[in-house]
Amino acid sequence: MSKVNLLGLSRESLEAFFAEQGEKAFRATQVMKWIHHRGVTDFAAMTDLSKSLRERLEAVAEVRLPTVEFDQASADGTRKWVFRLDSGNSVETVYIPEEKRATLCVSSQVGCSLTCRFCSTARQGFNRNLRAEEIVAQVFLANRLLEHEVVPGRKITNVVFMGMGEPLLNFDAVVEAARVLVDDLAYGLSKRRVTISTAGVVPAIDRLAEAVDVSLAVSLHAPNNAVRDELVPLNRKYPLEVLMPALDRFSPRSSIETITYEYVMLEGVNDSDDHARELADLLRDRPVKVNLIPFNPFPGSGYACSSNNRMHAFGRILLANGLCTTIRKTRGEDISAACGQLVGEVEDRSRREQRLQRMNIGA
Ligand code: SF4
Repeated sequence: MSKVNLLGLSRESLEAFFAEQGEKAFRATQVMKWIHHRGVTDFAAMTDLSKSLRERLEAVAEVRLPTVEFDQASADGTRKWVFRLDSGNSVETVYIPEEKRATLCVSSQVGCSLTCRFCSTARQGFNRNLRAEEIVAQVFLANRLLEHEVVPGRKITNVVFMGMGEPLLNFDAVVEAARVLVDDLAYGLSKRRVTISTAGVVPAIDRLAEAVDVSLAVSLHAPNNAVRDELVPLNRKYPLEVLMPALDRFSPRSSIETITYEYVMLEGVNDSDDHARELADLLRDRPVKVNLIPFNPFPGSGYACSSNNRMHAFGRILLANGLCTTIRKTRGEDISAACGQLVGEVEDRSRREQRLQRMNIGA
């Protein structure tokens, strides 16, 4: 019988696990603190548990972590880790230090089943969803690596689900992991500091606010269906007239009002003054923050980044229309850790690269 990995269990799930073992709910409190506050993975070291319980846990449970396969630092302090999950699969996690924040960008799937045209993860195809423990492990390991190797005493303060994968297509595991991240017995991150990003999986947006109270970001990237159909093919299934009402329904149900709209700046594709005005019309009267993201080219992408002047002109139109707008600083470009550059190692079950090459649009 395979052992239960306790790393990814929320408080409720861990209490249910201990109830099955005939133990009281407070055991969950003790074990969560050992694992997430103290970084202890060995039951034998959990000294406030009885010896017999520790032995029983050894038999039925474990706290197992992926291995660190690769660790690379950027000149700007950004750090990229590749975590090996199993044979054929690894995912990338990126640490972005700022003056007052330590942000971790986590992956939620091995590869991605979506096919956003400007994203290098999409070229890797898709293998499988990450389990909750594999998502939480990225934060656990980052804290451990930061404490012992990078910046003594530094802990992750913000987590964004913007690495490899579409988080809302791995709904249950992502929600369970997010519950661990916001729990005071684990990482105690406020709901404003945990952001789940989606390309627009409408049915899951409707379920998210009920499942866990965290922030939402949307990979919008276009002001109309014609451009978005091209850049984010999921739009053909959930076009803007379906997506926007779902986002409007999300805000009042969650305690977080502002939704972040991510908009990658692609030269000649979505960056004209007309596009900016159309975007302002689309988002008018909504509580939004717009994040303009400089495109990070990768081989064969077929796109170029908008010029600095163009990005600022675009941003000025949004600001003039009352939209809170920022231009994201590109971080970790020299180690391919920037937005849309994460690839990991994916044993592609979707054979996407071969299909793209047959269609002559591959890398
Ligand atoms: S941008 Fe996100 S959702 Fe789209 S293909 Fe890349 S990883 Fe998947």
